[in-house]
Amino acid sequence: MMKLCPECEGKLSDQASRCPHCGYVPLAHRKTSTPGKWLVALGVAFCVVGAVLFAGSFPVKSWGGHVEPLIPWGGITGFAAIGVGLLNVIIGRSIMWWSKN
Ligand SMILES: [Zn+2]
Repeated sequence: MMKLCPECEGKLSDQASRCPHCGYVPLAHRKTSTPGKWLVALGVAFCVVGAVLFAGSFPVKSWGGHVEPLIPWGGITGFAAIGVGLLNVIIGRSIMWWSKN
């Protein structure tokens, strides 16, 4: 079946991956972007950063004998980062699931 290219209005097979006249790529042949995948990756990164911050907030005994966390603000920040990360993973997963169905 032939259709018209929306760019140059030349004849275009609907099996063609691009217009032979102007190079227009039909929607069906465009690589679908996967925002879900990116969100999941971002979420995992947030979780890792959060875990590092969280671990750094635990008091460490220094050579001088006083107990001090490496990252004093790491606890709540790490916790928030993990929360945001998990949220991103969940949203990303649902987007991936929805785009599949
Ligand atoms: Zn064209």
